[in-house]
Amino acid sequence: MLAEEKVHTLITANSQADNFRLAALHRYHILDTPACEDFSFLTELASRICEVPYAFISLVDAERVWIKSCAGMHMGELPRGESYCSLAVLGDAATEIPDLTQDPRTANMRLTVNAPHMRMYSSVALTSSDGFAIGTLCVLDTRPGRLSDDKRAMLVKLARQVMALIELRANEKTLEATVRELEMLATTDELTGLHNRRSLLHRLKFEVARARRFRSPLSAVMIDLDHFKKINDEHGHAVGDQVLTTLGKLLRENVRVIDIPGRYGGEELCVILPNTPLEGACKFAETLRAKVEAQIHYAGQRPLHVTASMGVGTFNHMEIDDIESLLRQADAALYRAKHGGRNRVECGT
Ligand code: GH3
Ligand code: MG
Ligand code: MG
Repeated sequence: MLAEEKVHTLITANSQADNFRLAALHRYHILDTPACEDFSFLTELASRICEVPYAFISLVDAERVWIKSCAGMHMGELPRGESYCSLAVLGDAATEIPDLTQDPRTANMRLTVNAPHMRMYSSVALTSSDGFAIGTLCVLDTRPGRLSDDKRAMLVKLARQVMALIELRANEKTLEATVRELEMLATTDELTGLHNRRSLLHRLKFEVARARRFRSPLSAVMIDLDHFKKINDEHGHAVGDQVLTTLGKLLRENVRVIDIPGRYGGEELCVILPNTPLEGACKFAETLRAKVEAQIHYAGQRPLHVTASMGVGTFNHMEIDDIESLLRQADAALYRAKHGGRNRVECGT
């Protein structure tokens, strides 16, 4: 009775040690991941080597034991209080149970009482790199007994392989996330959150190739802020930067997912509009111009208004069918917009 009470306390207690153990488990990001052949192979091997019908890779979470892989039966998860493995991760005392019906901790558990009526349990802890038992590799039989020393030694080696695989998968995930982050940093302009010049031109090259291949329309809108030097001169460079940041956000929020908004340089922005003919691109630019004009910026408490001039260039698959001619046309239109009085859109040749 005393033993039963003690173990019960251990299972349900949200002890500090268990919290550290759970933190170690969660660092691997393995819970609820899809089934995977590499893990299935290891449980299959464990069951064959130990000559028992069942083998599990179990991970002991806060309230449940999640099964990464099992041989001999299908099981997704068990409540923590119904799992032999939840006892095993608490210490050596429950790593081997020769007859589950004779142990007060396991005699009334679901898998002992109901089919398949488990009798023998033997497990090896899966130990995290910082020394916490995050789960087990275990084998089970419906006949009572113990594993031979040889078989147990093999199970220990297999558990190391399982842990190495868990580490490998976690490292792969970290690496993928790092690559994604680096890609993002390398292609994004820090101030505006838009594509930087290099990324913008890279994407434009790709869009030009696609427009040529499918003879599809492609437009570019070149945007230059009006009298921006004055904003810097009157309110300081930091206010100028803040204006650029806000405009970057406005641009990102007002383009379709297929559009590519970028910072062409300084206070010149550019939006590439795939699959968009001149008319659509001009409408887009006019809407954007009005939104830029309507936006209020602040220099401290003082409201500021900023306008932009825009020039639209479009592929015509004749004289305008490469990056240079497209940007030249947009630039020429922008020049006309500036000379026509600013805060306006000029389209095409
Ligand atoms: P216009 O209407 O003819 O375009 O006048 P403008 O003053 O905008 O044109 P100009 O090209 O003479 O000046 C651009 C200014 O934009 C000058 C430069 O200091 C400022 N600028 C460029 N990049 C940045 C930036 O990253 N931050 C800030 N605050 N200012 C920038
Ligand atoms: Mg400029
Ligand atoms: Mg300007």
